[in-house]
Amino acid sequence: ITVIPEVDLPGHMLAALAAYPEMGCTGGPYEVCPRWGVFEDVLCIGNEKSMQFLEDVMAEIIDIFPSKYIHIGGDEAPRTRWEKCPKCQARIRTEKLKADKNHTAEDRLQSYCMTRIEKLLNSKGRQIIGWDEILEGDVAPNATVMSWRGSAGGIKAAQLGHDVIMTPNDYCYFDYYQSEDTRHEPFAIGGFVPLEKVYSLNPTASLTEEQAKHILGTQANLWTEYIPTSEQVEYMVLPRMAALAEVQWTQLEKKDYTNFTTRLAGLIGLYRRDGLNYREPFRQQADSTATEKK
Ligand SMILES: [Zn+2]
Repeated sequence: ITVIPEVDLPGHMLAALAAYPEMGCTGGPYEVCPRWGVFEDVLCIGNEKSMQFLEDVMAEIIDIFPSKYIHIGGDEAPRTRWEKCPKCQARIRTEKLKADKNHTAEDRLQSYCMTRIEKLLNSKGRQIIGWDEILEGDVAPNATVMSWRGSAGGIKAAQLGHDVIMTPNDYCYFDYYQSEDTRHEPFAIGGFVPLEKVYSLNPTASLTEEQAKHILGTQANLWTEYIPTSEQVEYMVLPRMAALAEVQWTQLEKKDYTNFTTRLAGLIGLYRRDGLNYREPFRQQADSTATEKK
């Protein structure tokens, strides 16, 4: 097992800004947010001190994690502060970052930041992964794209020749509910990703054979804003993880959901033996039937 760390930049930085307010565009003060969300206060890319901070953090990260890949996020970074920040606007001028019909100059400022960190990591023999938002600017050239807002970003990235990890939220977000009858489920962030939906994912759909080679695999995401215990982690993961594993290692023409559920009974026996807190899959079938009746 290789652990790949993610340090999200230049957004999702509120905790860092609370500690080092001078690295934000407004100078703060900032507070660590006790709730999840997307925040307008992001790292000031015009401030060389912020860039130095990122480079120092990355130096420590590669020291700790030997993984070939380092995930540097790139998602959910609003441009509003950069638009009004003299330092960021000065960076846009000195780097000659230009808007075009698809990108604002601030989109390009994000790309500048991502590319600079990518170059640093490449120079240390590492590759970056970024969320599909990195396609909104000039994508860092060797970046592997993680497609989370559906599969569209992953398809586009594969067509551009980037490697891709498919983790579309409508199939692979295991923090989403497993039933539409949410009253009988532990409180979750929302959504609905039942077992059969996970199993139905085709990560190379609508790609040519050549483009499909860029799909490295799939990934489940389990964000834990609403998951306080490891027992609940097990409940959200099992048995959806078994379905996703089969998506990865089974040829498309051999996938058969009914056959999978038959074999799942054996796997459930192992979950029971090991005392794991799985979700009863045959309850799942009842959920599907209920859905069809609607
Ligand atoms: Zn700024």
